Order: sequence, then C-alpha cells, then structure tokens
Amino acid sequence: MPTPKKSSSTSRSTKTSSKGGGTAAAKKTAAKGSSSKPKSAAPKSAPAAPAAKEEKAEKPAGGPPKDKNIVMKPPIVVKDLATKMGLKPFQLVHQLMEMNVFAALTQAIEEDVAVKVCEANGFKFEVEKREKGAGQVHAPEKVVEPPKPEPIKEEDLQTRPPVITFMGHVDHGKTSLLDAIRQSNVTEGEAGGITQHIGAYQIERKGQKITFLDTPGHEAFTAMRARGANATDIAILVVAADDGVMPTTKEAISHVKAAGVQLMVAVNKCDLPAANPDKVKGQLQEHEVSVEDYGGDIISCDVSATKGTGLENLIENMLLQSEVLELKASYKGHARGVIIEGQSEVGRGNTATVLVQSGVLKVGDAMLVGPLYGRVKALINDRGERVKEAGPSMPVKVLGLDGAPVPGEEFTVMRNEKEARSVAEERASKERVGKLEKGSVVTLENLFARTAKDQKKILKMVLKADVQGSLEAVKDSLLKIDSDKIEVDFVHAGIGPVTENDILLAKASDAIVVGFNTKTDGSAASASKREEVQIKLYSIIYELIDQVKDAMAGLLDPEEREAHLGKAVVKQVFKLSKFPVAGCLVDSGRIERKARARVLRGKTPIYDGGIHTLKRFQDDASEVKAGLECGIRLGDFNDYEVNDVIECYTLEKVAQSL
Ligand code: GDP
Ligand code: MG
Repeated sequence: MPTPKKSSSTSRSTKTSSKGGGTAAAKKTAAKGSSSKPKSAAPKSAPAAPAAKEEKAEKPAGGPPKDKNIVMKPPIVVKDLATKMGLKPFQLVHQLMEMNVFAALTQAIEEDVAVKVCEANGFKFEVEKREKGAGQVHAPEKVVEPPKPEPIKEEDLQTRPPVITFMGHVDHGKTSLLDAIRQSNVTEGEAGGITQHIGAYQIERKGQKITFLDTPGHEAFTAMRARGANATDIAILVVAADDGVMPTTKEAISHVKAAGVQLMVAVNKCDLPAANPDKVKGQLQEHEVSVEDYGGDIISCDVSATKGTGLENLIENMLLQSEVLELKASYKGHARGVIIEGQSEVGRGNTATVLVQSGVLKVGDAMLVGPLYGRVKALINDRGERVKEAGPSMPVKVLGLDGAPVPGEEFTVMRNEKEARSVAEERASKERVGKLEKGSVVTLENLFARTAKDQKKILKMVLKADVQGSLEAVKDSLLKIDSDKIEVDFVHAGIGPVTENDILLAKASDAIVVGFNTKTDGSAASASKREEVQIKLYSIIYELIDQVKDAMAGLLDPEEREAHLGKAVVKQVFKLSKFPVAGCLVDSGRIERKARARVLRGKTPIYDGGIHTLKRFQDDASEVKAGLECGIRLGDFNDYEVNDVIECYTLEKVAQSL
C-alpha cells in the first residue's frame, strides 16, 4: 500500500471535513474585534416567513442547495428535510426552535412549518402526493406529539445565557476547572453554599449569566446528541499544558466538530514547571484547531485551575463568544428543554435536572418527558434552594415526574396534567410494542434514497485503525476514490478499537463505523445493536476500499454475514475409517449439525465447510452445547490435530449497508 504523503492527506481531509455542513467553520467567527455574526445564525433573526424575504439570498451554511424545490412525502422528518436543504440536522432543529417548533431530529413536522422553514432558507417546499392506494395499507401513524405552542413573538425573544461544557482528556482538569469557576462565583457569606450537585450550574459576572453542564466529557455530550438534543452552545476543550494533545483530546475535537458546536480552548495547568502552552497550541493546529495565536479564530486561554490564574479572562472570553453567537430565547410561554440527568432519590422520588431552552418552567406545570409525565412539585436550583420558576438556560432539578428520565430527552410543558398523561401513556404503549420511532438507521441504501437526486452524497464515516500509519493509508485511499456522486467525510478518524463513543458519535452524525485492523470493545458491540449502527471491520485494505467503492456505485448486493454459534476444541482424533472423527469438547456456545464449521490451527483457518456428522457418544445429535463432548466429522476434511479449534457458524443474508 502506498505511503500517503502527509501534506496531501491533511489538505484533503480538511477539505472534506468542512463539507456537508461547514457550520463549525462558519461559526469560527473571531469573537474579538468582530461583530459579524456566524452564518449559521442567519435565519435566526428572521424566523418567520414574511421577514425571511431579504434572507433568501443568503445560502444556508451547509453547502449550496442544488435544487430549489424540495419535494417530500409525509412524514416530514427533521433530519431528512435538513439533508435535502444541505443543512446539518441540528441547524434545522435550531431554526425550528426559533420558530417555536420543537422537534427532535427524528420527529416529523407539519407541512406548513416545512413550507416556512424552507422559505427562510430559500427553498420551495411541496408535499409529494401519494398515488391513490399505492402501497399505503395502514393509515399513516399518528405522531404522538404535544400540540403546537403559540408562535414566539419577536419581542419575546431575549438574550439568553450560554450553555458551556468542558471536554478533554482525562486528568487534564475538567472537573477542577468547573469547581474553580464555581468557587470563584461564591460570594462571601454563602461559603459552603455550593454543596448541591444537580448536574449543571450557573454563575454570574457583571450581570451576565453563564450555565455550565457538569457532565464533562464528550461521552455525555454525544450520548445526548445521539438522542437528538444539542444542549451545549460552547464546548471548551481542556488541554493540560504539560501533557498536550492526547487521544481523548482528538476524539473530543471530532465530537465537537461533528456537532457544529462553537469550540474554545483552555490550556490548563499553566502553573506547572513543565507547562508548554505554545507547544499545545502547535499540536492543536495540527488537529485543525487553529487558535488565535496561530492566526486562527478559536479563542484559547491559558489557565491554572488550582492557582486560579486566567479564570477571569476565560470567563470574559466565554461571554464574548456567547455575544457573537447571539443566543436568544423566549422568556414567555410554556417551557421546553432538555433533560441533563434523571435520578431516583431517597426521600425525593424521581428527580430530573433539566435545562430550560425556551419559555419559563413553573412549579405546578404539567410536564411531559418521553413516556413520563408529572406535575412539577418543586424546583431546586444549583444552590439547593427552592425556586418558583426557571427561564431559558437555567438548570433546575424537577421533582414530581412519574419516572426518572434519560439524559438528552426533551421535555415540554402541557396545558394540563390530563393532556400530559394521555400523551405519555400513548408513548409508553407505543414503546412497549417497540414502535416508538428510533433514529433512522444509516445504511448506504437509505443514504441514497434520502438525498436529492443530483446532489452529491456525503458518506460520513467514523474510522478506527490499529496504528497511525494504516489510519492515514486508509483515509488517503478513501479520499482518492473518484466519484462525482459521493464523497467521504470523516466525522472522526482515530487509533484503537471501536468504542461505544464511536457508535454514539456515528449515531448522532448519521455516520457508519469502519474499523481497519482493529476490533470492537465489549460495550461497542452492544451499543451498535442498541443504536442500530453497523460496524464494518476489515483487515485487508483493498477489500475495504472495494466495498466502499461498490457501495458508492450503489452496487451492494445482499451480503452473507457470519453468526458465530460456538466453538469446540479437538481433544483426540479417532482414525476409524478414511475419514477420521475428531473427539471434541464444546468450549463455548454450541455446535449445530446443520451449521457451517471452520477448523483453525493456531489462527490459521485450514478448513471451511459443512459438518458431515455430529455425534454424542454413538448417537447422532442435532446440536451439542458447551461443556459436553462430541464427535465431529467435517465434509471431506481428514487432517485433525489435537488442539485444533472447530468454529461453528451460520451464514445470514443481510442487506449490504456498509
Ligand atoms: P479531569 O479528569 O479532566 O476532570 O481532571 P481533574 O480536574 O480531576 O484533575 C486531574 C488532576 O490534575 C487532579 O489531581 C488535579 O488536582 C490536577 N489539576 C487540575 N488542574 C490543575 C492545574 O491547573 N494545575 C495543576 N498543577 N494541577 C491541576
Ligand atoms: Mg473529572
């Protein structure tokens, strides 16, 4: 395989990663000395249709629209509509929010809303009429959604505090920074007043508030995003000045970029003698995080969490950045927002820390969260005080729900408890029969089906490899595939096994997961099942490339996939006839007579085929389970040795989905 030239791979990956969205890039508006607002915020100030006219010329940040007409069949799912408009799904979610329509990525919106939001982005929306009787056997499933709230009035929109999350490598000081900033906000006389932990807190500086999510790490961040919630406005990448950019730092960068969230850098531990902030910034530059000192536009602050130095500057810059983002929300009407944490607490029952994103949450409100509901019995702020209400960006703990909700789930306030209960119950029963809408599964087929005809498709990929060299080689080869129909965008490319995080990132970004010369760790396997994200592992580079090429050409045939049944170890060989029998002990799973088997000597397969006979003592058996002995004769194989491993598997036909 060709060794990739460093320069070419870097420049190409820069190019591709900025496509299919470009939000992160667009949002990297210099905070200092620049009043130009980020492109992605364009439709925000003109959410309603009439005012949107002047905005028409302004293209959405997510790549130029190819087709001015958008035609879709209902249900009009947010994610699909975003794809058609060339927007990142969260951008559309944001725009919808500004129109006071709160829909998760996988939820459907009304036709008139689609018309409005399309218009605001310079598109004309049309519903594709189904032909009479064509295919449609059932009535379209009713989406269990609360009634639409009254539209937000422009005059109700006010600046809201930014919501900030710290991310970075373990031990680089995320928790210390959160604590130090919080400590610095405690005024005299209320010392000790910060013992309460509600998963988020707010500070105030010069009359301006900042909200911090106390769930450091991109795991929580991406897990929430995989459920369709983007609670964070600004992600602060914490890098220890003595340690520099580490694997998790890189991962965090990918996660933030994939989310299109504004990035800031805090170079921590600057008090240490070994601290080298400049080196850190150089390393960040190599990972496409270009900080101001290096001519970029990402704010970076040198700090020390333990000494408290640089914290005020960091906070000031947060406020500055937040000003640039022009974060607004309505301070009127029923509250909507997102769950940060859910718990069952002794003495309190089910509690949920929520972040209000719009409207005002009040004690006594009828709250709806997924299949849960309840009357808000009490609201507790981050200081442990009872409060009567919470407005936008304010985190509060809610008492009174009938269960503990999942982080990332959205909540709404309904007109009354009865309404909340009926929607909750409907959702719960749907969930029971497994019909609740999950995020759609990304496969190459639906990728093709979902994108407009003449629009270039973007195949998003989380790529993991064993070593840097092979990672670069695979990346380079994939980027070299010449196709005018599709192009690869690496949401994340890193070294090591495929982890649960990779799955969540893929889920949140509509990406596929590809591993080269690597494996999946335990939790990744179950996450992949749960989240319905497929992992493809390869050990031969041209196989990987060929499959991606085939996929790009739309030539994927149903594939046969191995389902591992069990394995047996050869303990003794009986040379009874021309075809000897292997006396085996089933080591794990089971051996099935009708399944296929493969003989492994060491790691080398030396036979692969059917099973001729399977015996328990003298009797034929259809299957033999782990812990039992059996005699195995495989097709025409006659060369068993003690300690050979016989792997038993079946072949399942699965649609290729790369
Ligand atoms: P996290 O894993 O990113 O949350 O890191 P922690 O906040 O738990 O910090 C890890 C370790 O680094 C702890 O022992 C902290 O005391 C130490 N630490 C954090 N910030 C600083 C700092 O600014 N200077 C020094 N010298 N040590 C720090
Ligand atoms: Mg920590």
